[in-house]
Amino acid sequence: MSEHGFDADVIIAGAGIAGATLALSLARAGLTPILIDPVVFDDQLAPTFDGRAHAIAYAAYRQWRALGLAEALDPHAQRIEQILVTDGSTPGAGAPPQTPFFLRFDSAEIADRSEGEPLGYLLENRHTRAALAAAVKAAGVQVLAPARVQAAAFDARGVRVTLADGRELTAPLAVGAEGRGSVIREAAGIGAIGWDYGQTGVVATVRLERSHQGVAHEYFLPGGPFAILPLTGNRASLVWTESNARGAALKSARPQVFQAHLERRFGEFLGAVEVEGPVFAYPLSLQLAERLAAPRVALLGDAAHGVHPIAGQGLNLGLKGAAALAEVLVDAARLGEDIGSEVVLERYAAWRRFDTVMLSAGMDLFVRLFSNDHPLLRLARGVGMAAVNRVAPARRFFMHEAGGAVGDLPRLLKGEAL
Ligand SMILES: Cc1cc2nc3c(=O)[nH]c(=O)nc-3n(C[C@H](O)[C@H](O)[C@H](O)COP(=O)(O)OP(=O)(O)OC[C@H]3O[C@@H](n4cnc5c(N)ncnc54)[C@H](O)[C@@H]3O)c2cc1C
Repeated sequence: MSEHGFDADVIIAGAGIAGATLALSLARAGLTPILIDPVVFDDQLAPTFDGRAHAIAYAAYRQWRALGLAEALDPHAQRIEQILVTDGSTPGAGAPPQTPFFLRFDSAEIADRSEGEPLGYLLENRHTRAALAAAVKAAGVQVLAPARVQAAAFDARGVRVTLADGRELTAPLAVGAEGRGSVIREAAGIGAIGWDYGQTGVVATVRLERSHQGVAHEYFLPGGPFAILPLTGNRASLVWTESNARGAALKSARPQVFQAHLERRFGEFLGAVEVEGPVFAYPLSLQLAERLAAPRVALLGDAAHGVHPIAGQGLNLGLKGAAALAEVLVDAARLGEDIGSEVVLERYAAWRRFDTVMLSAGMDLFVRLFSNDHPLLRLARGVGMAAVNRVAPARRFFMHEAGGAVGDLPRLLKGEAL
């Protein structure tokens, strides 16, 4: 119970990676969040729960280090030293690229400003979730799981959140971090725009015969991008974008059939590839909330902005949001301000609005430009890639953007405590 008779300072709906990171940041800085999720925390840690690995920008990774997660995460974090982007118009990935239309990003080129950080880190979600779950518990955060937020009612003083089992909780602020189907967003009357891409991201983990050397590959094929993302233990996470029909067929294919299609797509440049664990399929869409905040409510992560994984930016955007929201709320609480008031929450919205809209629009443009086999478009994007590849400052610009260490950074993204 908080000092004003509320059950908590902040009710966070959704204990995904964005919601759990926010809860941990707030608790470490002395606020009392309650974290709610329909999935039991421990079930999120099973290898069968979520087969994805996330490319995490180095600034976002610094935030987890600042929150004390380095010891748990570092052994599982694969440094991304290079990113090779190829407009692979023919199936069968190969390296070095057999086309003049490619882009190569190298962490050595930005070492002067990134303090030796790589371009990013590849982390399997199961490890991130396990580290966050342990840290959230150790920080004494109250976790209600399994529990589902069903409704929320807002008034001048606070928010009353109703759970599906009838329990009610009050706080000055509710954060919707429950992904695209955010109940908090709908209850607050915040609309969303978006569309379905008609594409599915097929995800699998493979063991490689030859060393990946910390290189991430992205091939733009007519069906959509095909990414080979390096993992620790000389494995790779594949994100294979296809039409929904082909994606469903791949997911349900017998292992030998999946392997045959994979080998055709993958080629032999990393030697033999062996699929480990189940194949997952994620429908891909864009969804953007019309506002990031309203009185007594803030939206975070995919509840605010669900984007295509074409450049691995969705969670990174959510983590930047978590760092900004935590800083705004903690600073406001220290000044004795009402953390759920419009004036406080507008600071968060103003801080994150431009980046969120620009990145979502940029990813949407990328998808349209790169999931397309129109010969003129192919030529234009190939020439564009080759041009950027020849201009070192342009390459460095994209690398700094992808590293997430540009603009007005929240303290946590600089690796500082709140
Ligand atoms: C194939 C694929 C690859 C990707 N790769 C990358 C990448 O490399 N890098 C990157 O940055 N991003 C990537 N993304 C995007 C990234 O996965 C998402 O942006 C991220 O998972 C969103 O996290 P979140 O915590 O906001 O939401 P979610 O992960 O959707 O979590 C929401 C949580 O809310 C809970 N919940 C749902 N309803 C309720 C309710 N009513 N009450 C309470 N809780 C509720 C859910 O159980 C869940 O735990 C990828 C996405 C896909 C599909």
